[in-house]
Amino acid sequence: MLKLHLVNPSEATYKANHAAILRYSLHADLPSYYRTTHLISEITGIELVVHNMCINLCIIYTSPFLNLEACPMCLKPQYDQFKLQLKRGKKWIACQKFHTIPIRPQLQALYHKPESTTHTQYLCEERVCASSQISTERDALTDTAIYYTA
Ligand SMILES: [Zn+2]
Repeated sequence: MLKLHLVNPSEATYKANHAAILRYSLHADLPSYYRTTHLISEITGIELVVHNMCINLCIIYTSPFLNLEACPMCLKPQYDQFKLQLKRGKKWIACQKFHTIPIRPQLQALYHKPESTTHTQYLCEERVCASSQISTERDALTDTAIYYTA
């Protein structure tokens, strides 16, 4: 039996599902997480933006903090000092990273095709329908109340 994990869209979830599918079907030709993210990026034009951030979540090392070696709030270093010393100052690895997907390319991808534009109207149409239904039911209740009081 194939058991897939649907906890969240993380790399760990992808790898767990990848392993589960390979256990189920040894001959499945599945792309790696890295390859899948690049395929999605190529198809949608949406790219992940990664910035270094303070290990205590105080700041993100973007302008004006971009060139700081340590957080101005808690003074924790931007880069992993152990790995930096281990590699004799040649490997600068951030203690913490912040991943984000900018909204503009997501919206562009969403409105790329007329069909997807129609799908984005779903919530608005459902809201109008539900609102109309509530009004109708409220009017019916009001009429009923009038009927009983008259
Ligand atoms: Zn900090």
